[in-house]
Amino acid sequence: QTIYRIGGMENVDVFTCEAKGRGLKAVKEFWAGDVIFAERAYAAVVFDSLTHLVCHTCFKRHEKLQRCGQCKFAHYCDRTCQKDAWANHKNECSAIKRHGKAPNENIRLAARILWRIEKEGGGLTEGCLVSIDNLQNHVDHFGDEEKKEMRIDLESFLEFWPPDNKQFGMTYISHILGVINCNGFTLSDQRGLQAVGVGIFPNLCLVNHDCWPNCTVIFNNGNHQAVRSMFHTQMRIELRALGKISVGEELTVSYVDFLNVSEDRKQQLKKQYYFDCTCEHCQKGIKDDLMMAVKEGNEKPSKEVVKDVIQFSKETLEKIDEARTEGIYHQVVKLCRECLDRQDPVLGDTNLYLLRILSIMSEVLSYLQLFDEAAGYSKRMVDGYMKLYHPNNAQLGMALMRAGVTQWHAGLIEAGHGMICKAYAILLVTHGSTHPITKDLEAMRVQSEMELRMFQENEFMYYKMREAALQNQTIQVMPEPAANEISPGIFQKK
Ligand SMILES: [Zn+2]
Ligand SMILES: [Zn+2]
Ligand SMILES: [Zn+2]
Repeated sequence: QTIYRIGGMENVDVFTCEAKGRGLKAVKEFWAGDVIFAERAYAAVVFDSLTHLVCHTCFKRHEKLQRCGQCKFAHYCDRTCQKDAWANHKNECSAIKRHGKAPNENIRLAARILWRIEKEGGGLTEGCLVSIDNLQNHVDHFGDEEKKEMRIDLESFLEFWPPDNKQFGMTYISHILGVINCNGFTLSDQRGLQAVGVGIFPNLCLVNHDCWPNCTVIFNNGNHQAVRSMFHTQMRIELRALGKISVGEELTVSYVDFLNVSEDRKQQLKKQYYFDCTCEHCQKGIKDDLMMAVKEGNEKPSKEVVKDVIQFSKETLEKIDEARTEGIYHQVVKLCRECLDRQDPVLGDTNLYLLRILSIMSEVLSYLQLFDEAAGYSKRMVDGYMKLYHPNNAQLGMALMRAGVTQWHAGLIEAGHGMICKAYAILLVTHGSTHPITKDLEAMRVQSEMELRMFQENEFMYYKMREAALQNQTIQVMPEPAANEISPGIFQKK
């Protein structure tokens, strides 16, 4: 088994061109699943709402965390994580004590960056191809609302920053806040189910966007329990190849979810990252027709009917959001059902509005443990996804995993095993074999394969075993939907 070390910057070269500015290209050939480089966070913090639920060093979720005795703010899994954190937490700890409370996540992250700069300077640090000083901040592009938020953040920062530390100018602090605003990378928990924090990874910031990219970026919380073994791995991001990449080819990742028509993706990219996407998929509108598909053949609906159904879908999605936020899941199910009744005779099976409803419907029904019904919807959803996504897209892999688990719970062992196998093949590329989610999937794959074989040979034994498996909860039920879901954009933005 390969152990990936932090690094790999020798695998890439920085280039500059007029159209895109800076970028990274490969200096050797890569294949699907190769780690091109791995990078530790320059600085990272846990989200405000989760500071007592997630370890401040490794960003894993834990039932029981230990609290820092000094500030009572920071939380850690154990002594190892606490000791690891001290170098980064020392200044923060005394600043929180002095200030009386911890400021918001943006301010905490800015302070951590500036304490590091106070110690090491703002120039190039070891293993970095770009310095914090040289990262883009886009402050010039800010609209009125963003400028106002920036002023509020600046004020809270100045209140928090200790007078006995180095004093930075307003322009420099604004630069750091601007960098966080457009380059903050969302960190997830160890199961990849929840967004738990934000970090700055300077090398990753050099990787340009493409809606149909050749790389993916994945957060790995590492395995700190293996500190003394050769398997010791640290919290890091990994840039992984999705397919063959030739020498000299530019490395790209997608900053946004592909499941939006090109016009909408372009708008989102402009608003969030301040550039016009000129990728091939946007220029040619590739797959736009599938995402807007309507029923074909004799029953082909009129333009008016399609327009009405889309409008109805938009309104329903808003109502669903409200009901979901309030946790009224039976209302969500009712709204989805009404919407599907309208959509089914009109929209094609890859239409985005249909897929969104199918996704919410199967997620909520699974949460309510109504697996028999959820199974059908999740099958339709992943069938649509497979026609739209890149075959090695991480989101497709995660959707297949969830759908596979739903099929398994519904007793559809063959379909479930098939989806779990497909998900496993994708996650081997996007997450790697040592990632906790891939390991979960491998266990599911082995179990569902065994069950499938038994089912084919001896049905009675199969049902006996299944009963036992359900009691043991080997294949777990779904987490509660909504709340802090992984945002579809890779760099977080408030
Ligand atoms: Zn930890
Ligand atoms: Zn502390
Ligand atoms: Zn594009």
